Amino acid sequence: MPEAAQHTPPQTFSDTGLAGLEARLRYDLACLCYPGNDWVPTHSVSGEQVTDVVIVGGGMCGLVAWLSLRMAGLRNIRIIDRNPAGFEGPWLTYARMETLRSPKTLTGPAFGLGALTFQAWYRAQHGDAAWAALDKIPRPMWMEYLRWYRQVLDVPIENGTALEQVTPEGDYLRLRWSGPTGESVLARKIVYATGREGTGHPTIPAFVANTPRIRWAHSSDAIDFAALKGKRVAVVGVGASAIDNAAEALEAGAAEVRHLIRRSEMPTINKMMGIGSFGFNAGFQGLSDAERWRFMHYSFATQTPAPRGSTLRVSRHDNAFFHFGKAVSAVTDTGTELHIQFADGTALETDFLILGTGFSVDPMARTEFGAAAGDILLWRDVYTPPAGDEDPDLGRFPYLNRDFTFRERVVGTAPWLANVYCFNYASTASLGKISGDIPGVSEGAAWMARALSERLYAEDANTHWQRLQSYATPELLGDEWTASPLPPMTKTGQVA
Ligand SMILES: Cc1cc2nc3c(=O)[nH]c(=O)nc-3n(C[C@H](O)[C@H](O)[C@H](O)COP(=O)(O)OP(=O)(O)OC[C@H]3O[C@@H](n4cnc5c(N)ncnc54)[C@H](O)[C@@H]3O)c2cc1C
Repeated sequence: MPEAAQHTPPQTFSDTGLAGLEARLRYDLACLCYPGNDWVPTHSVSGEQVTDVVIVGGGMCGLVAWLSLRMAGLRNIRIIDRNPAGFEGPWLTYARMETLRSPKTLTGPAFGLGALTFQAWYRAQHGDAAWAALDKIPRPMWMEYLRWYRQVLDVPIENGTALEQVTPEGDYLRLRWSGPTGESVLARKIVYATGREGTGHPTIPAFVANTPRIRWAHSSDAIDFAALKGKRVAVVGVGASAIDNAAEALEAGAAEVRHLIRRSEMPTINKMMGIGSFGFNAGFQGLSDAERWRFMHYSFATQTPAPRGSTLRVSRHDNAFFHFGKAVSAVTDTGTELHIQFADGTALETDFLILGTGFSVDPMARTEFGAAAGDILLWRDVYTPPAGDEDPDLGRFPYLNRDFTFRERVVGTAPWLANVYCFNYASTASLGKISGDIPGVSEGAAWMARALSERLYAEDANTHWQRLQSYATPELLGDEWTASPLPPMTKTGQVA
């Protein structure tokens, strides 16, 4: 098929706009018999109904998890998010890039529905010419799209509601959450769609341990950039978040912004993007531990570069600097400024430090799981890498089952962890890139919904067996045929 034809939808909705697209989506969903047939038996304990699945997190992964489970016929689902409505995920909080890195054509959470893609949503409102002219997706627009996704599918996110604690209760999980309803619910399964920081924490290097909080921030903090006007700013790191924060500081009028970069060269190649494919998504989880470690360690070690546009947003300022080979060894507050000491013996004075150091996956840091957080099996518990490939950060990733569920470090200590589906970035080391970034999230959701349904079905096998036996709705009514005797036999054995 010629390329232009490939990218021209049969109907562009330029006349009918979003209303037409939404009608098309409803039609497509109806043709797919959405939502799927309800098949999960109701569970209750002493009159309290048990929720089949609670999805924690209403960001992109939570939304597509909800759609995939509804497609699979689950109805008894709740979805919560601690952020206010429309502010789920990093997009309007601490993400500071102008555009997404992801190409505009990625289908992301659309779950196989063309009418649910960003492309369809954008074309319906702005037309085909604007689509052709669009380079990258502006960051706030991605949030607008996710808001539309939620609204058009009527996803009932309970906002301002944070999961505080999970404890086992018989065969179920007791979830306590804060928020408007402040309730506690019993659930069979949890889909833990808590995002990048949701299975860990921002990475805070030890060198700021004694530095007053007013003198430094992590890139995920709410930073008062206006207050940095005229100030000297140092940014640790040169990854995407470090670069975006540097750009914000420069645009706010910082006197200078200096990137302090431990490595000797700029990372320039996005290795994982280069091998992204359905095959990688489908095949990664089937690789051996050694192979999976090798892929992920290599990807971490080579580091994903910041996007070109974001880097140019910084370097177009004369007062932006990139200093390589500068591993910070100590930071001292002199009372009027920060004195930064580097491992190579050099030093720098600055007014404010921003840590573009990313997030660490560390299930043990999650307070929701209480003491059981320490029972989660991690990669470092199962795999010892060859010399030279050691990687403590990778070692802290949870070692998951192939269905996204957590495993216990010591069998029998917290078997309920197998009812928690880790549908977020922390699954990367075990399952690849299918529950964190935009490209593979629908595939991940489809596999998660299938695996979760398999478990629910097996747990209710007796009920389903009884349903099979008691099902008595005839398909034939008895008037479709007449019973006949066999014809008489002839001597030769031929029918007369
Ligand atoms: C600065 C930045 C830029 C990025 N740019 C891109 C990009 O260009 N392309 C790309 O593919 N990916 C990008 N990513 C990765 C991005 O995080 C994911 O694509 C996307 O946000 C993943 O969706 P998610 O649902 O897993 O997590 P999130 O979008 O982070 O959503 C998780 C939700 O869980 C909620 N939550 C967490 N804990 C709890 C709790 N205990 N109780 C209730 N709710 C809770 C949070 O409030 C949040 O709304 C970027 C990430 C960052 C930080």
